[in-house]
Amino acid sequence: MNLRAIIQKIKSSFNHQEELSNEAVLSFLRVLESVQEEEASCDEVYAKIDEYVEKEVDKKDAAQIMPLIREHLNSCSECCEEYEALLDVLEKTSKK
Ligand SMILES: [Zn+2]
Repeated sequence: MNLRAIIQKIKSSFNHQEELSNEAVLSFLRVLESVQEEEASCDEVYAKIDEYVEKEVDKKDAAQIMPLIREHLNSCSECCEEYEALLDVLEKTSKK
C-alpha cells in the first residue's frame, strides 16, 4: 500500500461519519497498523539491530525506545536469531 492510498483511506473513513464511530477508529487503527508493519522491514531491523542490542546491554529499555524493532523481533524468527547471536556476543565482551 502506498502513502497516497493510505491517506485516501483515512480521509474516506472520516468523511462519511458525523463523529468518530468505533468502526471509524478501528479502521483508522488498522491503517496505522499496516503502515507500521511496512516500516519495520527485515532490512531496517537489520540496520538498527546493533543499536538495539547495545541499549539492551546498557540496561536501557530498548523495547520502549525502539518498539518497532521489538515488535519485529517477536514476529520474525530470522531477525530474532540475529538479535540473540549479537546479544550473546555483546554480553560476553562487555563482561570484564
Ligand atoms: Zn525480520
